[in-house]
Amino acid sequence: MKLTILGCSGGIGPGTNTTSFLINDHILIDAGTGVGSLTIEQMSKITHLFLTHSHLDHISHLPFMLNNLIGEVDSTLQVFGSQHTLQALKNHIFNEVIWPDFTRLPTKESPCVTLHPMEEGESVTVGEVKVVALPAEHSVPTLGFWVGNLSGQGYFAFSGDCGVNQAFWQALDELPEVEVLIVDDQYMEKEKAISALAKHYYPAALETDLRQLSYQPQLYLTHLPAYKAGEVFEEAQAVLSDWHPRVLKTGMVLAF
Ligand SMILES: [Zn+2]
Ligand SMILES: [Zn+2]
Repeated sequence: MKLTILGCSGGIGPGTNTTSFLINDHILIDAGTGVGSLTIEQMSKITHLFLTHSHLDHISHLPFMLNNLIGEVDSTLQVFGSQHTLQALKNHIFNEVIWPDFTRLPTKESPCVTLHPMEEGESVTVGEVKVVALPAEHSVPTLGFWVGNLSGQGYFAFSGDCGVNQAFWQALDELPEVEVLIVDDQYMEKEKAISALAKHYYPAALETDLRQLSYQPQLYLTHLPAYKAGEVFEEAQAVLSDWHPRVLKTGMVLAF
């Protein structure tokens, strides 16, 4: 399995994009500004999109991608997410005001995108890749994902946008061990008030919650702020020294 990081930042700036991960050539997790780096040929190969939640930095480029693909490919993009996320897309994006209703275009019978509810604990298998929805804790209903090869090798997990909780860690611990764990770390200790409100981790809170996991995968931090990533990572390196954390970066390719 190949995991290409199209975007993983908490904001935009030169060389950074918001969250979108490409698995092999045909599965996306989230559709933030990172999708903008794909060519139309690459976009046309994507068959499945799994959305963590409804926030703009994770869905912003789905409408643009569909606009590229309509009329160019015959296939339907299947989008999976919680009921809350899918309803938000219908109400606030594909509402004929912000963007056309691509769930009914080019025809109602054969649209270029279909929306499929996926709840915590459910799994979807796409070819050799299995995706399991995990609970997460954020300011809107959010899913994390466990992703594995059916061949039995190469597992990773992603917390989605996430703050202090038990459910994600308990659910993750019950699944086969992952090699790589990608976790939100947007804030610093001095921002713990906003961290609690926005429900994104800061290093000390993450360190406490990581103790709920019974093993130590390679830890990658994601969703660092675009213009203070260095400061946040410095604090994370000190607080999470036992975990030897790395920063996830746009353009990175991880192979399992
Ligand atoms: Zn969010
Ligand atoms: Zn986000």
